[in-house]
Amino acid sequence: MLGIDAGLTRTKAALFDLDAVGREVAAAGVEGAVSRPFPGAAERSMDQAWTDAAEAVRAALASARASGADVAAVGVTGAMVGVWPIDDRGRPVRPALLVADTRGQEAIDRAAANDPDALDRIFRSGGCVVEPGCTLPALRWLVDHEPEAIARTRRVLSCKDWLRYRLTGEVAADVTEAAVAPGDARARNRSPEMLRIFGLEAHADLLAPVRPSESIAGVVTAAAAAETGLRPGTPVAIGAGDVPCSAIAAGAVDPGMACTVLGTTCHNGLVAGEPVFEPPNVGLLFTMPERLWLRVMVNLAGAPNLDWALGALFPDLAAADSGASVFDALERIASARPAGVEGLLYHPYLSEVGLIAPVVSRGARAQFSGVRAAHGRADMLRAVYEGVAYAIRDCYAAIGRPIAEIRLVGGGARSDFWSQTIADVTDTPVLTLEGGEFGAKGAALLASVAVGRRRSVREAAREATLVRRRFEPDPARAAIYAEGFARFKAAREAIVALHRS
Ligand code: ADP
Repeated sequence: MLGIDAGLTRTKAALFDLDAVGREVAAAGVEGAVSRPFPGAAERSMDQAWTDAAEAVRAALASARASGADVAAVGVTGAMVGVWPIDDRGRPVRPALLVADTRGQEAIDRAAANDPDALDRIFRSGGCVVEPGCTLPALRWLVDHEPEAIARTRRVLSCKDWLRYRLTGEVAADVTEAAVAPGDARARNRSPEMLRIFGLEAHADLLAPVRPSESIAGVVTAAAAAETGLRPGTPVAIGAGDVPCSAIAAGAVDPGMACTVLGTTCHNGLVAGEPVFEPPNVGLLFTMPERLWLRVMVNLAGAPNLDWALGALFPDLAAADSGASVFDALERIASARPAGVEGLLYHPYLSEVGLIAPVVSRGARAQFSGVRAAHGRADMLRAVYEGVAYAIRDCYAAIGRPIAEIRLVGGGARSDFWSQTIADVTDTPVLTLEGGEFGAKGAALLASVAVGRRRSVREAAREATLVRRRFEPDPARAAIYAEGFARFKAAREAIVALHRS
């Protein structure tokens, strides 16, 4: 099974062996730049996105010493929403507007001015705080400012829909992306009401038909085969957005399971059997296959907090060492300090755009509290590991539902000390998993269901996740962190108040 994952900065292709617990056989990536022609704009050449994907597929096949004939099916995923417009011959109309593009804010502001209840209604329908780069506000911006481009546009796709179109020639969208356009999380589809809020009723036919993520979209065309090395006729699945795909690949497919992606950002998602709209007007809700939903709270700064601590507190280590051994050295230093570091707390709000969950505070910034004269840099380092874990607990606490276990993926999951700290701070077992490319793997698993190699997404996910290690919370440390979390939360409320003015 081949999975393609087109991230904002890197397009990856990976091959998985279904007969060996979904083992990652080979993976390859191609760097691709986001173009920022002026402040607020975030675009990507659509042709380049396709050639990057084709190159990643060729490289993954070469690295596995495999040929196109070895690939049973293909799945696609990528950075979600935005606007990828094509004309009636399937050619790009203009560069894609990405989710990070802020031009659509104008449409959101206008919707809110026309109807004071509009933002609440958007949240009550889709369960997501609408971003300017979501499909509907970004499309509204294009309608208003580039009418000549819209006049040539036949369909508006997302990244993975564009790549799938280039592979198969078939136009389609999937459930996971339609619901965050914004759409309707209960109906698991687009929403006529959301189109009305953005004044896009007349443009409804630009949006591609919505199909289940785990169904077949079409087959690889001769032209796409020539570019990718795949065999013509290979089935391609509809696929899903990258966050739902990562959750599937982490095996988070049962209500009560949580999945934390601790990479550049820190996504904390809880699987539910019905759409969850609590707490209101914050966070995201993803519509997963098989009547599952994923309620997500994001801390925009995850592992970069540790990168900052390394550079700012341990420049000697940063300069002397390289690669994984730096993180091993950091872990040794931090684990020698006591849990809770005698009241020292770190608040991991390092992102330039502040805090978006569990409350929105664009001005919030990272800080230490409870510093004592005896505290040294080793204590501050331990506080950074613990602070990211407290922020994870803060996010799950806001969702307010019981959590059976947390599946941890992303760069931070490589650290056993961090994984154990997250288990202790959240008082919940943490599981780390074999594998590296979780987005691509989720897409490949959807493809395995589409071609009938697996009966359901749940079955595919369960069979293909191999737990690397399970970290049980330690009762003594959990008690220390329960007290620490009360202070962390009180301090977070103070930070939000401080930066409001
Ligand atoms: P992205 O979100 O960009 O895909 P990754 O999930 O690959 O990023 O995570 C990259 C981050 O992982 C880096 O910021 C780095 O701090 C962190 N990281 C990598 N290895 C370790 C480790 N052994 N311990 C702690 N953090 C690590």
